[in-house]
Amino acid sequence: MIGLTDIEKRFGDNLVLKGVTVAIAEGSVTALVGPSGGGKSTLLRCINLLEIPTSGTVRIGDETLAFRPGIKVPAADIRRLRLQTGMVFQNFQLFPHRTAIENVMEGLVAVLKWSPEKARERALALLEKVGMAHKADAWPATLSGGQQQRVAIARALAPSPKVLLCDEPTSALDPELAQEVVDVLGKLASEGTTMVIATHDLRLASKIAQEAVFLDAGVIVEQGPSAVLFGNPERERTKRFIATLK
Ligand code: ADP
Ligand code: MG
Repeated sequence: MIGLTDIEKRFGDNLVLKGVTVAIAEGSVTALVGPSGGGKSTLLRCINLLEIPTSGTVRIGDETLAFRPGIKVPAADIRRLRLQTGMVFQNFQLFPHRTAIENVMEGLVAVLKWSPEKARERALALLEKVGMAHKADAWPATLSGGQQQRVAIARALAPSPKVLLCDEPTSALDPELAQEVVDVLGKLASEGTTMVIATHDLRLASKIAQEAVFLDAGVIVEQGPSAVLFGNPERERTKRFIATLK
């Protein structure tokens, strides 16, 4: 369903991803863990092409794009692939001058050219799904962090992406507010939403991810069932890192 093959990403002299290969099955949840600076955010950004891989192949559903140094992939191809993904950021990144529902409608109206009526209807259904319909007309600044993140999740889901990418979705939240976000992500997981979640939160990861990837210094050290990776990892390096999260 989603395939990354031999992805390299270089920033100047810094080779940040060193040939990363991952396959993500439809309907699965994959936790992406590893030390800070290991390349988790960059990898997520290479899936939705906010960063263009230096080399390697990104496949989402039926769409495949191959990247090579010095060869420019057409912007239209990048846009088409990006539309298959939804992204949730650590700091929510809602548009401050739009209400909750307008945030969710924005991409549908501005990018996909839906009518405002149809977009509002879908946005309201998504706010309902994340338990935020009662705050549809609220401004982001009046919402708690957990509420803002739930609106951000609804916004990311609006164009029906094939995969929801979450970059440390609970890291900016107090435990109680993190829990409401974990609950929403857990519900989406049980409904079969394909997700990749970069997180330091072992509780979140072990609750909703079946698969896990341990990325350290741009290299996948270990990947497999999350129960094994978190419970009884094979590699010494993985063991030491998981121990720091417990
Ligand atoms: P993680 O999310 O695992 O903490 P990141 O993907 O944010 O790791 O960062 C991996 C490495 O890439 C770090 O060394 C970081 O400094 C570098 N990096 C990330 N984004 C950029 C960028 N836009 N320009 C230059 N270096 C970057
Ligand atoms: Mg990061």
